[in-house]
Amino acid sequence: MRFSTGDAPSRSLQLGVKNPKVAGFKRTESFMSTAGLTDLPDIRGSTQMVERPVIMVIDDEPDALAAMLDALTRRFGGDYRVVPHLSGHAALAGVAKIQEEKLEIALIIADQRMPEMTGREFLARVRSIVPTAKRALMVDWGDHEVSSTVLQACALGELDNYLYKPWTPAEVHLYPLISEFLAEWTRVHRPGMELIYVVGDEQAPRSNEIRELLNRNGIPFGFYEVGSEPANRLIKERGAEIAAFPAIFLHDGAILGDPTDAQIMDAVGETSHELSCDVAVVGAGPAGLTAAVYAGSEGLRTLVVERHVVGGQAGASSLIRNYLGFPRGISGAELTQRAYQQAWLFGAKFVFAREVTGLRSRGARKVLILSDGREITAKAVVVATGAKYRRLEIPSLDRFVGKSIFYTTFGESRFVSDLHVAVVGGGNSAAQAAIHLARFARRVTLIVRSNALGKGMSDYLVQQIGSAPGIDVRLDSEIVGGEGSDRLERLIIQDKKRHTSETIPATLLFVLIGAIPHTDWLAGVAQRDSKGFIATGHDVDANAWLIQRKPMSFETGVPGLFAIGDVRLGSTKRVASAVGEGAGAVENIHRYLNETHQSGANEEERFFAASVRAA
Ligand SMILES: Cc1cc2nc3c(=O)[nH]c(=O)nc-3n(C[C@H](O)[C@H](O)[C@H](O)COP(=O)(O)OP(=O)(O)OC[C@H]3O[C@@H](n4cnc5c(N)ncnc54)[C@H](O)[C@@H]3O)c2cc1C
Repeated sequence: MRFSTGDAPSRSLQLGVKNPKVAGFKRTESFMSTAGLTDLPDIRGSTQMVERPVIMVIDDEPDALAAMLDALTRRFGGDYRVVPHLSGHAALAGVAKIQEEKLEIALIIADQRMPEMTGREFLARVRSIVPTAKRALMVDWGDHEVSSTVLQACALGELDNYLYKPWTPAEVHLYPLISEFLAEWTRVHRPGMELIYVVGDEQAPRSNEIRELLNRNGIPFGFYEVGSEPANRLIKERGAEIAAFPAIFLHDGAILGDPTDAQIMDAVGETSHELSCDVAVVGAGPAGLTAAVYAGSEGLRTLVVERHVVGGQAGASSLIRNYLGFPRGISGAELTQRAYQQAWLFGAKFVFAREVTGLRSRGARKVLILSDGREITAKAVVVATGAKYRRLEIPSLDRFVGKSIFYTTFGESRFVSDLHVAVVGGGNSAAQAAIHLARFARRVTLIVRSNALGKGMSDYLVQQIGSAPGIDVRLDSEIVGGEGSDRLERLIIQDKKRHTSETIPATLLFVLIGAIPHTDWLAGVAQRDSKGFIATGHDVDANAWLIQRKPMSFETGVPGLFAIGDVRLGSTKRVASAVGEGAGAVENIHRYLNETHQSGANEEERFFAASVRAA
């Protein structure tokens, strides 16, 4: 296979290749610079001419429709067929015809204000007919009424995004957005670049794990079923005896049979071999990546250890809508891959697929113990290991997660207006969510496992729930199932005391049943609350703090050990908060390093040893 430099995604910029066989290829060079040098054969077979996918535009104003048709055809006509319609009904007939012709629809843009059928109604209807097409609503500049329509329709999955009209100049207001929509569609529906091949059993759990590892770390790969024609061709071409599957065929000719995550990441990635640094960051979610960006950009030698994949919880979120600066939302994977690149460009080094299992002191240094037995020494350590959100574990609800079921609430809640909403959880966050949502929703059902609200919530919240109109509280209750077509429509809840079950209407469900922080490895080192969240700043127990100055905002009970993001006691569980804390921690680190530099290494050693003993 040959590919041009322009094909390589920038997200893979930092990935190098081990033991390259190709002459003149340096180990530290990136995939970007491998253009034309790869010795992997193209195993996908010959490329066939494919019909151009369709971009469909619907607007009842003929002049506006003609202008859009003209603009899109000029820019995208070579690769897409642009099909205009003057009404939703005509467009529905058009969709049926396109399907008869077995053509693909990549993007549908519909104007909101149309007399027979609004754009939103049309896009909601077309969703089940062409679920793979991207759907964008066109709204008028300055139409303030439409903002809640857009928010609600996006939250309910009726549309993916929106555009403004007028959109001139197209170079500024139209083409960049259309390109973005088409890029998202292409990423999923067109074969991508393949820099490594995985041959395995499609259904095997390990095959899934490897696909997730490669996907989430932004490594372009192709997966081929054992025994398929391309897989056989590849094995023959390599003349290889494969002892164990899944097998990974690397760009440099090496083959890994049933490798561990660590072996894969070492083979394809730039896992650092330098294990001494100024700042060690544990965890590459948004908090850890931000700390790495700021520490790296401010000249600190920074090393990030990630046990799984870049991005943490946020990386698994299909669309983050409330992160500043992304009015149309951004996928968690995209956001965190960009942050990873940024950290790498500022000089941060990464160790992948290793878990930090312990922390101790050696002289003036802090020492992190890795799961492979190696040690990292650092002047300061940032814990950004996040928390695992408790999940509902109800298989019938899995398909609604991200569309109708959320493990967080949105700050902006107008989109729930007139909907039946359910909140599950017995703690303060569930209470606050229910009270907030009740201001907008038609009805909120709060589902609580215990027999009294006061068992898990602050008294003032219990009072507010009691007096808020529109909140139904179901005590002693659990969700046992749910139903709906494209999105959730009903929940089945069971009353554990009366042994009855009931079906209630619910279009959205917010699950706020707690989180478990990843801090077992810090037992006996950092101060933690009963759930395991790490105390910092004001929350550090003064009796256990052994030096004269007070702990800084993100400093734990151990001087020079910082905690940020979801793992920190009292943190707001949001991407933006994790990012803010990552930046704040680096300011704390500079102060700490200056202070220990002035007081001398012995003093620092004393701080750490004393604190660890006291914790
Ligand atoms: C389904 C879902 C949707 C969400 N949607 C939104 C949203 O729309 N908007 C929003 O603002 N927030 C959202 N959140 C919350 C947001 O994702 C978190 O607040 C944010 O990811 C916290 O970042 P973090 O870096 O602190 O932790 P995490 O993102 O959890 O990252 C921690 C990282 O540390 C690694 N790690 C853990 N232990 C170790 C160890 N011992 N050694 C090495 N590495 C380790 C983990 O593998 C992980 O990669 C959502 C959360 C979930 C679960």
